[in-house]
Amino acid sequence: MIIGSHVSYGSKGLVGSVEEALSYGANTFMFYTGAPQNTIRKPIDKEQVLEAQKLMQENKIDINTVICHAPYIVNLANNLDEAKYNFSINFLKNEVARCEEMAIKYLVLHPGSSVGIEKKQALDNIIFGLNQILKRDTDVTILLETMAGKGTELGRTIEEIKYLIEGVENQDKIGVCIDTCHLNDAGYDMRDFKTFLDTFDKEIGINKIKCVHVNDSKNSINTHKDRHANIGLGTLGFETILNIVNNEQLKDVPKILETPYIGEDDNDKNRIYPPYKMEIEMLKKGEFKENLLEEIREFYKEETKN
Ligand code: FE
Ligand code: FE
Ligand code: ZN
Repeated sequence: MIIGSHVSYGSKGLVGSVEEALSYGANTFMFYTGAPQNTIRKPIDKEQVLEAQKLMQENKIDINTVICHAPYIVNLANNLDEAKYNFSINFLKNEVARCEEMAIKYLVLHPGSSVGIEKKQALDNIIFGLNQILKRDTDVTILLETMAGKGTELGRTIEEIKYLIEGVENQDKIGVCIDTCHLNDAGYDMRDFKTFLDTFDKEIGINKIKCVHVNDSKNSINTHKDRHANIGLGTLGFETILNIVNNEQLKDVPKILETPYIGEDDNDKNRIYPPYKMEIEMLKKGEFKENLLEEIREFYKEETKN
């Protein structure tokens, strides 16, 4: 199983990301090239990248499965503010260039939100933007993420994703990242993953799926909320998620956890314990840990003692 989680990218850049992934027992990972919620980016440090690539090689992380995620705030859908729209396109061009510099193959992108314009126009804006970014010699594939449909978010349905994909000129540069929490919230029943996958295959083609975001959901199906839950502790449940990560047809596709950090209790705003080590363990073994949250707290409390 190719499985990892979202990891940070701090002062040590990609090296820190690899180290964090290894601390979770992961064999892949996903990172942002800076803060997820802003577009402030530093130039890529070549030395750091070489060191990170070496560390990956030594620890059998295949760089071809590593995922970069674009910040949430770039929006290719709305062009009412032309300067903002052009900023988003330019930012993504640079983000693709940064990925190329690091030899990262996949960049996950939220398709965008229409906010005040007609859906068809918004979808066409995304397509126009993508075609500015993805050229024949681009070495990166952009993966459109399936969204929960919160607010005016696009990419909620297979039909919308299909429309976007079909509009892209360079077909080999575009793919899909499915997110299990988002799909549930969008209205797809993850307990019947086979039906979802068959429909997806018929409409778009299963080979377009290059990444799976593995999250449980705090909300029931079709609620358009987008709040992730820890594995087995949400409405999807452990068996449903286990069935997805073990799907034969998605065997070679990286699975990335984006589940929430843990606090001292459910009301603790100070969420400092990453759940990924234990969640990865559970999914690899196929066994649910009844005391998942306690185990995570205990583990990291011991760690800080030592
Ligand atoms: Fe995302
Ligand atoms: Fe996601
Ligand atoms: Zn989400």
